[in-house]
Amino acid sequence: MTDRDLLMIPGPIEFEPAVMAALGAKTTSHLDPRFMAAFGRALVASRKVALADDAQPFIVAGTGTLAMEMAIANVVEPGDRVLVVGTGYFSDRIGTMAERQGAKVSYLRAAPGDVPALDEIERALASGSYKAVTVTHVDTSTGVLAPVEAIARLARTHGALSIVDGVCALGGEELRQDAWGVDIAFAGSQKALGAPPGLAVLTVSKRAMEAHRARKARVPSMYLDFSEWLPIMDAYEHGKPAYFATPAVNLISALDVSLGQLLAEGMDARFERHRRLAGAFRAAEQAMGLRTLPVREDVTAHTLSALYYPDGVDASLVGRVRERGVVIAGGLHPDLKTRYFRIGHMGAVSASDVVTTVSAVARALVASGAKVDARAAVAAAEGALS
Ligand SMILES: *Cc1c(COP(=O)(O)O)cnc(C)c1O
Repeated sequence: MTDRDLLMIPGPIEFEPAVMAALGAKTTSHLDPRFMAAFGRALVASRKVALADDAQPFIVAGTGTLAMEMAIANVVEPGDRVLVVGTGYFSDRIGTMAERQGAKVSYLRAAPGDVPALDEIERALASGSYKAVTVTHVDTSTGVLAPVEAIARLARTHGALSIVDGVCALGGEELRQDAWGVDIAFAGSQKALGAPPGLAVLTVSKRAMEAHRARKARVPSMYLDFSEWLPIMDAYEHGKPAYFATPAVNLISALDVSLGQLLAEGMDARFERHRRLAGAFRAAEQAMGLRTLPVREDVTAHTLSALYYPDGVDASLVGRVRERGVVIAGGLHPDLKTRYFRIGHMGAVSASDVVTTVSAVARALVASGAKVDARAAVAAAEGALS
């Protein structure tokens, strides 16, 4: 990859210059008033991004996987039952984490490309007393979008906490944490939140904080424990320093800039822009005759596209697209890995990035021997954008 290649994978994504400038700025003390202000703003902003005025935010050094593990480890105790709504690779990962905390985990897995039916989820919840339900808002391995609002409502009805993996969704897909009654939402910095990899961001409802406080035993891992971090988050939000573990000063400063940009755009405008850009990809995909891995429009993500290779084309397509200046990703789902590819279109992505990507993919398909009309694909994307 050269500096001029366009990075269109499902994270890390292209970052805004102002975000990178904050990352590259001189590192201050974590007690410097400017850093305290930046951390405080990032905490307040993370609540607004999740539309979660009532939630407790946590921003901790680590990746999206750390966020997953914090969400699980703080509310799940040995012997608790956890229901995993399975839509792909990352849904399984959070289930494994719950197993490692000693939970009894039930998996309700859909066929790749689909989401388990709501009545199946409801039946499962009704049949056992679950402590928590996990759902992957967008499973990055399949490009499947889950109906988080409906699943969170079912969880509430049956007295279970809802835990939403928003790593590939938060900041791009519509999430209204308070209004939908989502208990824990989390993300990593490097996807639709628009800052380099290395931060876990969580917003935790009052109900989930109570469940954490009501634990019989402390969280076995000190670094994962909300109780260790809570006084730190609270202090920085109120302009005071506190120490548990050194905050990732530059990453948090970069996240502050990025979340500021998200809020300046406005969350509703942001959801709409992601829908519009995804719509342009959809139009181009149809013009090229490509089949999406998600089986229906209503389960298709707006932050990335997962597409089957057409007949006669294989994973060498990814390299051919790269030769045309655009970096896309291969498959990830273990059952289908070699049969599809993925294009991320989240965060700062623009209409011209979409057209550039469609053009590169279409031309690479032609070079791979597929019967694709590259001009028609570009025209379809442009038509959808205008
Ligand atoms: C990327 C991703 C993760 C893991 O995040 P890392 O930052 O790679 O640890 C978890 N869940 C989903 C849905 C993801 O897209």
